[in-house]
Amino acid sequence: MARTVIAGNWKMNKTIGEAVAFASNLREVLADRHDLPEIIISPPFTALHAVSAVISGSAISLAAQNIHEADKGAFTGEISGGMLREAGCNLVIIGHSERRVLFGEKNERINKKLFAALGAGLNPIFCIGETLREREENRMKEVIGEQLKEGLNNLNDNDIERILIAYEPVWAIGTGKTATPAQAQEMHLFIRNWIAGRYGKELSEETVILYGGSVTPQNIALLMSQPDINGALVGGASLDVGSFVRIAEYKSNQGV
Ligand code: PEP
Repeated sequence: MARTVIAGNWKMNKTIGEAVAFASNLREVLADRHDLPEIIISPPFTALHAVSAVISGSAISLAAQNIHEADKGAFTGEISGGMLREAGCNLVIIGHSERRVLFGEKNERINKKLFAALGAGLNPIFCIGETLREREENRMKEVIGEQLKEGLNNLNDNDIERILIAYEPVWAIGTGKTATPAQAQEMHLFIRNWIAGRYGKELSEETVILYGGSVTPQNIALLMSQPDINGALVGGASLDVGSFVRIAEYKSNQGV
């Protein structure tokens, strides 16, 4: 059975000061809350090191939002896996739809980034998802299948054990439109079956598959009631400690 994880993706939000204040507050609120799922936060690059000091020794994990596939070199503006590890990260988001759409990242490059992250000791949160058009054309499974096949190309069992998958339909990100629990479950099951076909049933059952796309304290409980949804990758609603924690408390928070 896969563990439950609630991850926040802050995108390009929060100064270092704001990020540190958020992390201290979150640490305080979560102290002794052993009933909650695993919690991950993903500040912008500039705040990673300072936030890592604030959450050190707590149960909160730190993810970066992107990585370059090379170890070092002439790649102006880019950050390597080793640098992220040194800054205190243990995870990294790879293949977010904003990287795919706005920065032209294709499956092949995302595959290289997955290798770079794993090689640097970072656990990837591998994002996949179809656009509205692809859904309207009923091509979502074909698209997700291709993203899985090309993104996970040549990754072995040990690698897949370290990867969290985030199913984020592009039409639901930052739009206020959430996939219905049934729509999300259908795709999560498709993803789990794909993983089972490639890596075996046992590994597929352990794979954490997060849902992302306009998750809020109001809709999380229903999404989490689906058998193949193991948590959420949250954008907008992760920027406020109160709403982020209410999402993590979904078991006791039935649509508050
Ligand atoms: C995201 O950025 O991964 C995301 C799901 O954003 P939002 O929750 O704001 O839709």
